[in-house]
Amino acid sequence: MENQEIFSLLATYDHEQIVFCNDNATGLKAIIAIHNTVLGPGLGGTRIWNYKNDAEAIYDVMRLSRGMTYKAAISGLNLGGAKAVIIGDATKIKTEALMRKFGRFVENLNGKYITAEDVNTTTRDMEYVQMETSHVVGLPESMGGGGDPSPVTAYGVYMGMKASAKNVFGSDSLAGKKVAVQGIGKVGGHLLEFLHKEGAELIIADINETVLKHYAETIGAKVVAGDEIYSQAVDIFAPCALGAILNDANIAKLKCAVIAGAANNQLAEEEVHGPLLIQKGITYAPDFLINAGGLINVYQEHIGYNRETAYRKAEHIYDVTLEILKVSADEKIHTQKAAINLAEKRIKDIAKVRATY
Ligand code: NAD
Repeated sequence: MENQEIFSLLATYDHEQIVFCNDNATGLKAIIAIHNTVLGPGLGGTRIWNYKNDAEAIYDVMRLSRGMTYKAAISGLNLGGAKAVIIGDATKIKTEALMRKFGRFVENLNGKYITAEDVNTTTRDMEYVQMETSHVVGLPESMGGGGDPSPVTAYGVYMGMKASAKNVFGSDSLAGKKVAVQGIGKVGGHLLEFLHKEGAELIIADINETVLKHYAETIGAKVVAGDEIYSQAVDIFAPCALGAILNDANIAKLKCAVIAGAANNQLAEEEVHGPLLIQKGITYAPDFLINAGGLINVYQEHIGYNRETAYRKAEHIYDVTLEILKVSADEKIHTQKAAINLAEKRIKDIAKVRATY
């Protein structure tokens, strides 16, 4: 990657535009990657990360922005894919001036890029960004935004899980089903509540003991230590903590029929681990499809927030998951591939109607 020419990289991932933003006065070094705007303006969060070098930052922002294109496309949203990274240690570089300067750069793109919070950026940071641009979503409810998107994300994951259950077990009821959830954070916590309400038997793991104790006491979830979550004999495994956990070592341990969770980029290598899961007889609900509830929620904010509509759109993840599982079986391709194909098809179809944003 380090020696790859920048335009050949853009061509490889088929990006429209990369914007490098530098400001010596505030110390801002940011990259905005706009992957594809056929469906609408590129929306994606701004991540602050202390990358080892510029090449690593470029690779990350390109990979993440492409992921946003697929997530928006498969969710039926009129949004394109983009992402931004600010380079540096968030605990040291973040100031009001730096965030507002970043907002100026976003404003200069005239709405082609819409930003939101992401890793190491908060709602407070977005308030600073909003002082300089209106092209920002994920604002608190008090400012007319949609607030925390996690409940909608969890609802979408729950819908994807039920559709997968319907496909694999013949019924979408999760009553009595054993579900192992890894990561009981903002999304995992809400997901547990949906599952508990439906009568699922829950097994949980997290690195936060307090959270585990809470759910063991309140809903009777069984707690297992760290990596033991992978080897639980369960119907469904829901990764809701980290990416790239579906690798050779962990897949070898799995004893589940379905994987359906919120974490982004669960497959360590799509073309290796997607097919491997099929070989093991495990049905994988594509992450970017079933965790799109958060994006659906911020899209609503972009067009005029309405919580009910956000939930209704997230409910549609059920039907799309069923469709993807059918295509995967009919065309004998892994589910992630089937989902990417469907997203690409929508972009191709709409490109006949309108060009880029
Ligand atoms: P979060 O930070 O609130 O929760 C993550 C949880 O995972 C925490 O409780 C943390 O302690 C736990 N964890 C970390 N390392 C772990 C490990 N090794 N083993 C077990 N648990 C571990 O994050 P979140 O907002 O709930 O998001 C969860 C995942 O879903 C992330 O991958 C995120 O990118 C993805 N996602 C979230 C949203 C959203 O709306 N919040 C939307 C789409 C995707």
